[in-house]
Amino acid sequence: MNFSFTTEQEAFRTEVREFMEKEVPSRWRELGYGIWEEDDESWELTSQWVKKLGQKGWLSLTWPKEFGGQERSHIYQLILDEETARVGTPSGIESMITIGWVCPTIMVFGSPEQKETILPKASKGELIFCLGYSEPGAGSDLASVTTTAVEEGDEFILNGQKVWTTIAHRADYCWLVARTDLDAPKHKGLSMFIVDMKTPGIKINPLTNILGFHSFNEVFFDNVRIPRKNLVGQKNLGWYQLAMALDHERSGVGSPAAMDRMLHELIRYCKTTRRDGKFLADDPSVRKRIARLAVEKDVLRMICYRVTSVQEKGGVPNYEASTAKVFTTELMDRFANTVLDILGPYGQLDRNSRLAPFNGLFVRQFLHSPSSVGGGTSEIQRNIIAMRGLGLPRG
Ligand SMILES: Cc1cc2nc3c(=O)[nH]c(=O)nc-3n(C[C@H](O)[C@H](O)[C@H](O)COP(=O)(O)OP(=O)(O)OC[C@H]3O[C@@H](n4cnc5c(N)ncnc54)[C@H](O)[C@@H]3O)c2cc1C
Repeated sequence: MNFSFTTEQEAFRTEVREFMEKEVPSRWRELGYGIWEEDDESWELTSQWVKKLGQKGWLSLTWPKEFGGQERSHIYQLILDEETARVGTPSGIESMITIGWVCPTIMVFGSPEQKETILPKASKGELIFCLGYSEPGAGSDLASVTTTAVEEGDEFILNGQKVWTTIAHRADYCWLVARTDLDAPKHKGLSMFIVDMKTPGIKINPLTNILGFHSFNEVFFDNVRIPRKNLVGQKNLGWYQLAMALDHERSGVGSPAAMDRMLHELIRYCKTTRRDGKFLADDPSVRKRIARLAVEKDVLRMICYRVTSVQEKGGVPNYEASTAKVFTTELMDRFANTVLDILGPYGQLDRNSRLAPFNGLFVRQFLHSPSSVGGGTSEIQRNIIAMRGLGLPRG
């Protein structure tokens, strides 16, 4: 079986690679940033980067032209994601949320007015969403949300609280799920809304993560008035729209390329660093562990290609996306753990130390590993794979 790309696709890869090599902000590397935004400066760099991609039309490669897209096949998106990850560009969580997860759902369920207002601006990187799903009593069991949106004339009145809302303090809009029928079974009384974050009655409290960065928030809604035109799709059928957005969220396909880059850097380090008089690369246990990571990274690549193949046929990956998500996040954890073992005590040094290998990337990756919970925990992904992929009964 041959997984090669066409000549046109390879030409696009070269174009992207050259662009990335030339344009990735050198400051990003100087600061030793990894794959996530950490502070105001990194946010600013990322935002500029995302807008640059938007100007090239690369945020919306696969979208219809009427919404600012290029109507290219998903293989081109895969190539772009691979090259982006390979070079280690600012990842742009805002573009992942907005472009990757919310906009494709708006394309299917949104009103003509919503599509017109949101999609062209989003395709230029000029508009950002956050996700208003989780609540103190609703995480894995998302259908238990208690935030309510009560219809009053031509508006809905929103009351309740969201939590772990990434970039709520930066976002223009919240893609939010709320209960619109208190009497219906829990999956049936939900609706999706586009909430303007500047609406009176919204209060945002920062939550600092283990790395000391403010990315999460608690968001409180106190009699927030949402115009009816911001209801997405049909009232009380929000669960299905939410499920589609979550399927998109779990479909990330760039990770094997990021791992490729990290693996090459690790190999270079092991070939040039001595421990007890011998190069790390000569240590059989180090070699075995690196080889194992390489095998797993290649397995992940095939899993990701399957996701793209479903998208290429016009589908939305479901259990395939869950497979990619669970394997990616767990492999990232194993990767960070293995590298920290190989680095020994040096691995614990953060980037403010001149002795920190890889600028402290892996210790931050290790501390960041509980983030695999975002988008649904591994247990939830395995439940989806069991039920929808393998036809096993609901657990
Ligand atoms: C980095 C990051 C970013 C996030 N960003 C956002 C965001 O932008 N917006 C947002 O709304 N939320 C966000 N979240 C929240 C995330 O979606 C929830 O944390 C996640 O869905 C899990 O919910 P929970 O934390 O309430 O855990 P719980 O649901 O309470 O789960 C606790 C444990 O029980 C297990 N468990 C629960 N149910 C089952 C079951 N049926 N079978 C087996 N095991 C089960 C879980 O796997 C987990 O181990 C983010 C989280 C992280 C870590």
